[in-house]
Amino acid sequence: MPAPADLGIEVLSVPEGAPVELDLRLEAVMEGVLVTGTASAVLEGECARCLEPIRDDLEVTFQELFVYDDIRDSAEAEEDDEVSMLQDDLVDLEPLLRDAVVLALPFQPLCQDDCPGLCPECGVRLADEPGHRHEAAIDPRWAALTELRQDPTD
Ligand SMILES: [Zn+2]
Ligand SMILES: [Zn+2]
Repeated sequence: MPAPADLGIEVLSVPEGAPVELDLRLEAVMEGVLVTGTASAVLEGECARCLEPIRDDLEVTFQELFVYDDIRDSAEAEEDDEVSMLQDDLVDLEPLLRDAVVLALPFQPLCQDDCPGLCPECGVRLADEPGHRHEAAIDPRWAALTELRQDPTD
């Protein structure tokens, strides 16, 4: 199926319309249909530290019981938003897929585990220039303070 919009998080997601491959097993159980599946897709995003584009493969598994909607009226399942319902004999996989994908994503995606990020002074990507550094410059607004610094042995 083509990926729905916003499948993922802001910095890392499955591009809208990109193919999502689903491998599903549907089992009839007493209360409804038990859906077990795997979804695989590509991810695109950017490194949270250096903004380098990231492209990765994603594979998630999920399982959910979709309850027959005529059971909804029974006392135990009433008004429970946590229960997934079959709707006119159809299963809406999108919320399930969305939750599984979001849970599988790193909170802060990185281009490499030890990405050093960007130079705070000039913004150069430090992974590209390992030896990058600046002369130890002191903001002129703070320079006067260094003269006030006391020697603790005084
Ligand atoms: Zn990075
Ligand atoms: Zn720099």
